[in-house]
Amino acid sequence: MLDEFLQEPRVAYFSMEIALRSEIPTYAGGLGVLAGDTLRSAADLSLPLVGITLVSRAGYFRQELDAEGRQLEHPALWDPARWAAPLDAKVAVWIEDRAVWVGAWLYVIESDLGGRAPVILLDTDFAENAPADREITHYLYGDDDRYRLMQEMVLGLGGVRVLRALGFEISAYHMNEGHSALLGLELLQRFTYPASQLRSGESPYDVPRVRQLCRFTTHTPVEAGHDRFSYELVERLFRHGDSAGSSAVRFDLAELQQLAGREQLNMTQLALSLSDFVNGVAKRHAEVSARMYPGYQVRAITNGVHPYTWTAPSFRALYDRHVAGWAHEPELLIRARGIPDGEIHAAHLKAKQALIEHVRELTGVALSADAPIIGFARRMTAYKRPELLFTDPGRLEAIARQRPFQILLAGKAHPHDEEGKRLIALLHRQARALAGKVPAAYLPDYDLAQAQLLVSGSDIWLNTPLPPLEASGTSGMKAAFNGVPSISVLDGWWVEGCIENVTGWSIDGAGSLYDKLEHTVLPLFYGEPSGWGRVMKGTITTNAAYFNSHRMMRRYATEAYLR
Ligand SMILES: *Cc1c(COP(=O)(O)O)cnc(C)c1O
Repeated sequence: MLDEFLQEPRVAYFSMEIALRSEIPTYAGGLGVLAGDTLRSAADLSLPLVGITLVSRAGYFRQELDAEGRQLEHPALWDPARWAAPLDAKVAVWIEDRAVWVGAWLYVIESDLGGRAPVILLDTDFAENAPADREITHYLYGDDDRYRLMQEMVLGLGGVRVLRALGFEISAYHMNEGHSALLGLELLQRFTYPASQLRSGESPYDVPRVRQLCRFTTHTPVEAGHDRFSYELVERLFRHGDSAGSSAVRFDLAELQQLAGREQLNMTQLALSLSDFVNGVAKRHAEVSARMYPGYQVRAITNGVHPYTWTAPSFRALYDRHVAGWAHEPELLIRARGIPDGEIHAAHLKAKQALIEHVRELTGVALSADAPIIGFARRMTAYKRPELLFTDPGRLEAIARQRPFQILLAGKAHPHDEEGKRLIALLHRQARALAGKVPAAYLPDYDLAQAQLLVSGSDIWLNTPLPPLEASGTSGMKAAFNGVPSISVLDGWWVEGCIENVTGWSIDGAGSLYDKLEHTVLPLFYGEPSGWGRVMKGTITTNAAYFNSHRMMRRYATEAYLR
């Protein structure tokens, strides 16, 4: 079963979250969706990757909203046996003073173009393990620092060992964000200089050798966003009894501080120290990251989204008719310029009707297919500023009296993000207050399937992050595959993707958002259909053709993997 994937060396793609499919809730947001799109493109392009992540049996969480818009979190249990095959390798990772056994499942991504990509799901839920250790791989981003560090030990240390035990030959290790940076420590243990060659005080570790093997993609443009752990905690978890044997990772504190920071173990710092290729996920983000880490070269590989996954069925059929081969080579979408406007509008209407139906089932709110839908859905957290649209509800209503529009909102807040939860409740109230004037709804339990409906069925995709905090953002790219233009703050990918009036519109705050809606966007929508059709095609020919994960993976392959 695994043999077909062991025939050639592979790039090991490590990610704390990977969005494999809607039924497998092992992702929290953009990072996991990107990881899924990365591996889906690898399968399409027959690139030799192997994904590796935690099985997260209790998922992230299922979101329910009560009548006041308070977020209730329920475990999102899933059964790995239903979707993945158990593998027989089991390795020990030494944590505190005990061995934690780590096993693995194989999930296979099957490309619609015929390729296949393996994903290894790490699991500690075995009878051999203490009850608490069985839950290390249960909750995605769960609980406290100790739990998080144990998870990252299982991912980084356990992941490298499991790949080896399974017989994978790994040509490079790619860390998708810093959570997996402990893999570098595991590799350092493997590559040491013999004691006889060392002068006293010299490091036994062959750091250059490990750097040659590692690649690191950073996703966080603020220092505070990086995972860090106190060395007191690190020493406690890495401590081992004398009988620990070879499975323990022994590390000299001074050595570790050199690689990962003096005060605390900073996972980003560790990943930077141990990678010879580092990139940010958009041009602007790479610049911000380079300023944050003087002395490191931070390249830019702008994110993309998976073409087939993020294209609505009606647009897939349309592209199949007019742009044969688009799903393998989305650059061809530049040819969508020749598709008759009427067919574009008809494909969009189908996607919009599917969304309207979903909204009606979920919330009872009846939306109209005639008025434009403004969509806003993403992780709910302060820097995304979801409240910006409601800065002046009076103005919003006045604009809607002239030219009606509708609003759809969705997204989860991390269970510990009180501000994010407050924002959800606020949006929920705002949507209610607009009833009868501006149809609006907050959809519960945002996931891959709902995202597909929203990015294709909305007419205008809104994004309002506080610069420079949006490293890339990807939902606007998904919208582009469905001819849906963005109205967005210039940050992340939109710095590269916005051509005013061609692919959408730029804004810098609530004032310009209202102005553009009132004077540019809504008049264009209600004006000549050919005007709106021109912008729809602009998003497809200019942005879908470029901001896709095939282009992104061709760049990782040539610039990062084949070094
Ligand atoms: C695409 C996606 C995201 C990320 O959206 P951004 O615009 O990058 O914030 C988050 N959650 C889900 C379910 C998605 O599909």
